[in-house]
Amino acid sequence: MPICAICGEEVELVTKCKMCGEKFCSDCGDPDEKLCIYCMDDDDDWVDKEDWDEDVGVEEEDEG
Ligand SMILES: [Zn+2]
Ligand SMILES: [Zn+2]
Repeated sequence: MPICAICGEEVELVTKCKMCGEKFCSDCGDPDEKLCIYCMDDDDDWVDKEDWDEDVGVEEEDEG
């Protein structure tokens, strides 16, 4: 029986992580995505980037 590299338990089936190459059981990652729990968090490439919008108030004087 293969051994999960994450939890160290002997399991029926392990999946090789496509990111780090560790073999993990179904409890220690996503076999469908082939990502262990460590790499599942790393998968996020999207960074919330907010531009600082400085609102410059322009006052127009209208004399009439
Ligand atoms: Zn495991
Ligand atoms: Zn991994």
